[in-house]
Amino acid sequence: DSVNLAGIMPANDTIVALSSPAGESAIALIRLSGPACAELALAITQRSKPLKKRFAHFANYTDQQGVQIDECVFTFFAEGQSFTGEAMLEIAPHGNPLIVQKILTDLMARGCRPAEPGEFTRTAFMNGRMDLSQAEAVSDLIRARSDRSLEVAQRQLHGSVGRKMSELTERLLSVMAHLEAYIDFPEEDLPGEDQAGPASELRQLIVEIRDLIETQRYSALLHEGIKTLIIGEPNVGKSSLINALTGADRSIVSDIPGTTRDYISAFMMVGPWRIEILDTAGLHEAGDKIEQLGIDHTIEQAETADFFLLVLDATAPCPTLPESLLERLTPANTIVIENKTDLAGAAERGDFLPGLQHVRTSLLERKGLAELREVWLQSIDASLTQPQGDGVVVNARHAASLGEALTALELASTKLRDGELSELIAADLRDAVEYIGQVVGRVDNERMLDSLFKQFCIGK
Ligand code: GDP
Ligand code: ZN
Repeated sequence: DSVNLAGIMPANDTIVALSSPAGESAIALIRLSGPACAELALAITQRSKPLKKRFAHFANYTDQQGVQIDECVFTFFAEGQSFTGEAMLEIAPHGNPLIVQKILTDLMARGCRPAEPGEFTRTAFMNGRMDLSQAEAVSDLIRARSDRSLEVAQRQLHGSVGRKMSELTERLLSVMAHLEAYIDFPEEDLPGEDQAGPASELRQLIVEIRDLIETQRYSALLHEGIKTLIIGEPNVGKSSLINALTGADRSIVSDIPGTTRDYISAFMMVGPWRIEILDTAGLHEAGDKIEQLGIDHTIEQAETADFFLLVLDATAPCPTLPESLLERLTPANTIVIENKTDLAGAAERGDFLPGLQHVRTSLLERKGLAELREVWLQSIDASLTQPQGDGVVVNARHAASLGEALTALELASTKLRDGELSELIAADLRDAVEYIGQVVGRVDNERMLDSLFKQFCIGK
């Protein structure tokens, strides 16, 4: 009484994948989606009565040869009431890779097809269970490594981006309606107050979309971490700092100036923020070529860094920093660390770059680290482009589409100001509406969808 689906059209495939991590675990989770789920459930549990929907059933998994593979928990979801929108079956065996392999092999023999990366989520999107921004949020949510990025992914999963796009679209359509009323009377001039309405609403939309695009910077910081560069002269304690902050001896700490030539990077948390911290070569007059390369590299890294920890030796004269680096340092993105305060010759260095925040530490005695973290957290909170009140944060793909929409709106706005024909303005507005639609997936670009869902792991 096995079910064989071989030869069925791809659209009617029943897909299967291991959705939990490979390897040993207490339990594993195998997911199936597609029309054969109900019948398969009966066949492998050897039941005669259909499985109750959304109900955990404890039963043996029996393969096509009649061999009992493992005791599992089976959960059946009916079409229209599942994550993908298709009928789904979840099988939770013991988390032994051998058991998982036997079950997958048996399901394949019964006609199931291995799922492509992201195919469950893609099916959910195709079946209208979620918009494209929500589908992306599934992958963000799984990858989130900080409280803040979790929060944003969860909001997006609940449709925050989609709701914002609907709101923008509705407002654009209303501007268009205003203008289209005028298209019917091309001979007349648009009365002053009628023109002011659409024009100012258009300007407002442009400002809001620009702000929205800005939040992409925030989403990059959330996912990749805030890139923080430790800079300073050789021997001031840069490597000691990264070691103290990450609790590991990652960097080479030595008395020989210029020891850190390669880049050491580590991830750490400051409050809810994920930080990528980089130890750099000491900035000073280089003694040799390799050292100079390290210094050049530091200056290059500084161009893309989000935050700086500038370490000073409080017993030594203040450093002269390269101009190209100095101009990147602002009170919002830099903390000056006056280190080695345990030494007799340590002086106050508040007069060095006095506009910046200073923290005094003795890394040797592990003093001042708590204060550093506190000042650091306040700085990040105060300086990052935080999303607007509605908490909508867009990713790079959304920002690109919104950028196109912005260009179209700016064109429309100029044409409106110059008194051009309403038809021409309306055409730009329609373009803008289309670009905004792409954010949530009103797209007919298969290739774009393919590349987007390929970034998912199998089983999602
Ligand atoms: P880097 O070249 O800037 O990376 O400096 P390191 O972290 O390698 O430290 C250089 C030397 O200074 C090492 O011998 C450290 O032990 C020492 N050092 C670092 N921090 C302190 C401190 O707070 N007090 C004292 N007395 N020595 C320190
Ligand atoms: Zn070092």
